[in-house]
Amino acid sequence: MSSRGKRVLFVNPAKQDDFVVSRIHMGFSILAEILVRKGYIVKIMDYAFLRCLRNSVSQIRVPDIEEVIHEFEPHMIGVSVFTYLYDECQAIVERISRCCNVPIILGGPHFSVFPKDFNDSSRISYIVRGEAERIILNLIETAKCEKRPIIIDCPLPSPEEIPKVNLDVAYGSEYLSMYQIQLSRGCPFKCAFCIIRSIGGRHMRARDLEICLNQIVEAKSRYPSIKTVIITDDCTLFDKNRFKRFLRMFREANTGCELVIDNIRADLIDEEMIQLYVAAGGLNLCFGVETGHPEVLKLAHKGESLEDTIKAVNLAHRYGLRLGLCFVIGLPEDNLERHSYSMRLAKRLKPNYVFWNMCVPWPGTEVNEWYQVHGEIGDMRNFSTLIDSRINFNEPVVSTINFTKEDRIKAWLMANMETHNYFRNVRDMPKLVSLVHKYGLYRSLAIYFKRYLLMKLRNAFLKIFPRKVE
Ligand code: SF4
Repeated sequence: MSSRGKRVLFVNPAKQDDFVVSRIHMGFSILAEILVRKGYIVKIMDYAFLRCLRNSVSQIRVPDIEEVIHEFEPHMIGVSVFTYLYDECQAIVERISRCCNVPIILGGPHFSVFPKDFNDSSRISYIVRGEAERIILNLIETAKCEKRPIIIDCPLPSPEEIPKVNLDVAYGSEYLSMYQIQLSRGCPFKCAFCIIRSIGGRHMRARDLEICLNQIVEAKSRYPSIKTVIITDDCTLFDKNRFKRFLRMFREANTGCELVIDNIRADLIDEEMIQLYVAAGGLNLCFGVETGHPEVLKLAHKGESLEDTIKAVNLAHRYGLRLGLCFVIGLPEDNLERHSYSMRLAKRLKPNYVFWNMCVPWPGTEVNEWYQVHGEIGDMRNFSTLIDSRINFNEPVVSTINFTKEDRIKAWLMANMETHNYFRNVRDMPKLVSLVHKYGLYRSLAIYFKRYLLMKLRNAFLKIFPRKVE
């Protein structure tokens, strides 16, 4: 059969947690574009995106995977594997293989850290490790059912080989409000906890900015529902002048969209950049602070100081940007006492939102090496590094004598209660109170309620006296 008319289904499974996913799987939408250009018929079912969409768009009906397969009759199916969705991936592979007999291809960041997983599954025909842009056409052209998975190690694509995302083939994309783009891939830094070097590599691959901008403009004209453009590079600011050029271009394009950046390094910010960012419609700045303790930060080999963060945060506040902070609980030599430095810093910096990530010692990182010597490492599969807004979380996957699992859970709860107005559902209050009782966190609960009440009062006030939009 020629490629024309061959149908390819991409599936991203979802966890039944309370995290909001407002983006469509970027890897799949890029691979879809490569395939569509060659005459393949592609469909993306991103159940993580669709689960959230169903909560906000009442008229949308999301068919289950069996129904999709029955109607679409794919010739092959790709499934994305993220480590925290390991069980969900297994379950969806099981369901797929019960209702059709086509090659199943697995890929995703999971295989960059756990290359041996699924290797003996008789249900899988191929496992793709790394970025698939260069191999996808050949793979799809020749794929057949195999008794054991064939492993494909992908060469990194050059920036020119990364096309635009194709959203047309994604179920529910007409409701999409957020457009993601990568202006580059890779990160030259060597943070001890970060897995990016195993996924995107340390060598920077910068895409042509004109092409990126044209893709944004085209997407906005095709999908008027897009209100926000989000930059999801591994290291957006690796070339500050290049990024400033992009901000000028984005402003001139006048798309009417707001601009958001996932995560940036505080030491690469300067005032001119913030001015350009604000002028381009920039909304937020989210800094990876990691820890408030200088010794722990030193061992994280981030290459920036607490002063860098404080300086960058002051700039963000001065220009009225929404401020986000990311911390990691349990980096090497961290403990409950040192965690209080992180909480103090988080309060002092007055962020609009905070992510308290629990440390995961990804294979291949320095943090993993450290924990192998100084602590215990559990199974990282299915572990979500954040507590969701319904107060769901798993046991931490690492511990040391000086920072036990119980202390880590305490640190996690305290930090969320004292700095993050996140547990808002009244139904979950008994659960919160019982955890508070279990871990003796009464002071944190009092702070939480005080912040919760202030937030409610503020919202009520804003309802009566809304702020004038200039
Ligand atoms: S944490 Fe950020 S700056 Fe550090 S290596 Fe990872 S992507 Fe690069």
